[in-house]
Amino acid sequence: MMSGGPRISFNAIDSALSSLKNCQSYIDSGMDVATQVALDLVESFNDEEDINNMEKVMLEYAAMDRELNQYIKAFEETINQVKREKPENLPDLENLAQEKFLEMESKNSDSDFESNEKYMYFKDQLKEMKKQYHANDTIEQIDEDIAVTRSQMNFICPITQMTMKRPVRNKVCGHSYEEDAILEMIQTQKQKKKKVRCPKMGCSHVDVKGSDLVPDEALKRVIDSQNKQSWSTMDT
Ligand SMILES: [Zn+2]
Repeated sequence: MMSGGPRISFNAIDSALSSLKNCQSYIDSGMDVATQVALDLVESFNDEEDINNMEKVMLEYAAMDRELNQYIKAFEETINQVKREKPENLPDLENLAQEKFLEMESKNSDSDFESNEKYMYFKDQLKEMKKQYHANDTIEQIDEDIAVTRSQMNFICPITQMTMKRPVRNKVCGHSYEEDAILEMIQTQKQKKKKVRCPKMGCSHVDVKGSDLVPDEALKRVIDSQNKQSWSTMDT
């Protein structure tokens, strides 16, 4: 039976929470766009300063993301706490949420961003992209044949032994594979209840998981541009 006393509309709070979670999806897509733009900049050999600005944008997004998560958490904790209280002891919701939020905020540090998946993905892909492009620049001046062999080696999937079309990168060991091939491998081993050893020769990682794989956008761009180059050479 319902008792009398002050009632709180949890529905209103729930809908406020869900609109906060909507904001999250805007931050997510903003971070995706910024990542693509930064990779575009490296690919078109743009100014280093422009690329650094994209990193600043990513950091701002990561800070927004952290703030939003803390708001959501503060509200959720407050609601859970209030639901356990007797109606006569009901605290001021807003104050309580604010208190919790400020406490979380006081513990913020820059190292928090290292747990932001999209920011880390950005850093990782940007590094790869610079490595690929920069490496090709310097090696080509030394020996064009070696350059071709070396870069093409990175393009080959260790499973299919063919040039990758949709490379995914293992966040744990850093190796890349053709998406379909590694997923199939994981599936097959799962049925045998076995772990998947990283198929890259010499790698000691013995537990490849689907959840550790992210699209290797940087590598895909380099492969695509190489493919374009070799097609245009064949035309002439
Ligand atoms: Zn590996």
